[in-house]
Amino acid sequence: MSFTFHRTYRGPLRAAIFDWAGTTFDFGCLAPAGAFVNVLARHGVMATDAQARSPMGMHKRDHIRAMLQLPELREQWTARHDTPPTEADVETLFQEFIPLQLEVLPQYCNVIPGVVEVVDSLRAQGMGIGATTGYNAEMMQLCMEAALRAGYRPDVSVAVTEVPAGRPAPWMALKAAMHLNVYPPEALVKVGDTPVDVAEGLNAGMWTVAVVESGNEMGLSEADLAALRPATRELCRRRAHEKLAQAGAHYVIDRIGQLPGIVAEINARLAQGEKP
Ligand SMILES: [Mg+2]
Repeated sequence: MSFTFHRTYRGPLRAAIFDWAGTTFDFGCLAPAGAFVNVLARHGVMATDAQARSPMGMHKRDHIRAMLQLPELREQWTARHDTPPTEADVETLFQEFIPLQLEVLPQYCNVIPGVVEVVDSLRAQGMGIGATTGYNAEMMQLCMEAALRAGYRPDVSVAVTEVPAGRPAPWMALKAAMHLNVYPPEALVKVGDTPVDVAEGLNAGMWTVAVVESGNEMGLSEADLAALRPATRELCRRRAHEKLAQAGAHYVIDRIGQLPGIVAEINARLAQGEKP
């Protein structure tokens, strides 16, 4: 046969799937970074904030394993314990991490400025709102309760413990899409603040947007970000943009408030028959 037909979706975006920490909640993604540093310090391993942030967005157990694979931390562990870290050590640290994270989480329960307005604007266009997170169900519940009080109410939120594998696997995003009853995948946009957020969206076949200023790649509270000298801020911003663009994000934006403009651009591309 010489010809085949191929179908293209030309409708608009019908849902957005947001990450929690660093994207809609906890400006600077501060809660998990501190908890990872603390849990390793208990075992004689001194991690820097940057080392704690490098695998951010994954299942927290996978995150601990990834940190212990960093050569410097692996060496510290081996020197302290006379043996390289094992899978049993990863599990021990993860079990200690859970209560530590739950304890500090309420201090970081802030909804990022602009989120409520952006969500209202997307809803006004008929879009559904989903959320996914590397947090377990209990941690996510804490976020959800605080978010509801601040006026951010996703239609569905999926925790990493509800799927067989966390990011970069697409299952959380696809489960959220299923609950929202939205398809095909190109009718969804995944919004996050880390390379694995982008990978989750790409693996799900969705459009991807990464936010910089509130996110893990900047890793600063609103006050610390505002206190940066303009040249330093610009340098950090550029580095984060480049990292997220290299991870494959279709769009990298400074602030979540820019999302409605990006949605309009994606809608124009979809109308032309473009796919993510
Ligand atoms: Mg995040």
